[in-house]
Amino acid sequence: MTHDPDCIFCRIVAGELPCFEIYQDDDTLAFMDINPANTGHALAIPKQHWQDLHTTPDEQLAATIATAKRVAGALQAELSPDGINLAQANGKGAAQSVMHFHMHIVPRRLGDELKLNWGMNPGDMDAIGELAKRIAVRLAET
Ligand code: 5GP
Ligand code: ZN
Repeated sequence: MTHDPDCIFCRIVAGELPCFEIYQDDDTLAFMDINPANTGHALAIPKQHWQDLHTTPDEQLAATIATAKRVAGALQAELSPDGINLAQANGKGAAQSVMHFHMHIVPRRLGDELKLNWGMNPGDMDAIGELAKRIAVRLAET
């Protein structure tokens, strides 16, 4: 398995750092973003370390977007947002801050005026953890 010991997401995959996990399968992991752009903001990643869209093998991209789709379904069911954005950054110019390929799954509300580069504001960990449990239950049912 491709693993970078200095990568935060690889360390989450390895269980060395905590996360609010909501789903995993053989190839991918999904967990809550701790600096949520909106309530329910989640991330889907391949378990192996690939930096970005350009370097991630097609089958790993496919697995990750399939997981993002599952997560989006659970978020839709649990939170009934008005919409959901999938977002994904490649390189510093695109505001990629973690150099391990990931898809953002961001629930949207009409009028929330969220900008694409939304900045990082730490969330309420109790609220994120509680919501993670609800989403994980949904995902276990799908
Ligand atoms: P990027 O800026 O690369 O598109 O997205 C990286 C995301 O990872 C950011 O939204 C940031 O909040 C999130 N993030 C960074 N470190 C951690 C962490 O330790 N745990 C979790 N759950 N999310 C993280
Ligand atoms: Zn990594």
